[in-house]
Amino acid sequence: MLQLIGFDGDDTLWHSEGYYQAAQAEFQAIVGRYVDVADGEVRQRMLGTERRNLALFGYGAKGMALSMVETAITITDARVSASDIHRLVAIGKEVLAHPVELLPGIREAVAAVAEHHEVVLITKGDLFHQEKKVKQSGLSGLFHRIEIVSEKDAGTYRRVLGEFALAPAQFAMVGNSLRSDIEPVVRLGGWGVHMPYHVTWEHELENGLGEDEPHVVTVDAPAQIPAAVARLRVLAVD
Ligand SMILES: [Mg+2]
Repeated sequence: MLQLIGFDGDDTLWHSEGYYQAAQAEFQAIVGRYVDVADGEVRQRMLGTERRNLALFGYGAKGMALSMVETAITITDARVSASDIHRLVAIGKEVLAHPVELLPGIREAVAAVAEHHEVVLITKGDLFHQEKKVKQSGLSGLFHRIEIVSEKDAGTYRRVLGEFALAPAQFAMVGNSLRSDIEPVVRLGGWGVHMPYHVTWEHELENGLGEDEPHVVTVDAPAQIPAAVARLRVLAVD
């Protein structure tokens, strides 16, 4: 029996990645004033720096800003000006301060799912930023529990399920990232509702799931989430 439904935060409840992509575009424009390097290569260098730094900085805009500074210094052979570094730090602050804008229909979707299941918000990233977004979203009252975690892997989901004393087959996760929201849960024996967002950070695209994964239902919009969960409810009984 399907008991607990987890919801991702960024790009599932509220818009997020667009702010990071806008920051990336401005970063490329700044670096482009110093070196004649294709935007694609600048993006790959930045992605490499961010990935190397994830274990130290974790996810989120503060780590992004520090990785921008580091990448700008290395890519320009330390010629990047102090005022441009100042601007990179400001870009990070702007991402941290963006308004929280819910995806259309998500409040109603979470409320509808909560009529049949316990619902938990499982979001990763910078603790201050995530706490602020949860508060500003006005959705926290809908969730039985809110988990802000540093990584969304099998160990994290196992711990959350342990706290609810549930088996993986009793749990489904709703989210936009196959890598963070869907694959680790399905690998444990749980279920997934994948709702792709129109833009995705390259790091989150990597996953090992097949095309026709029987434990995953894909939806286009929040309004389809309650029916997708109902479908998994039926599948989970068989
Ligand atoms: Mg997300």
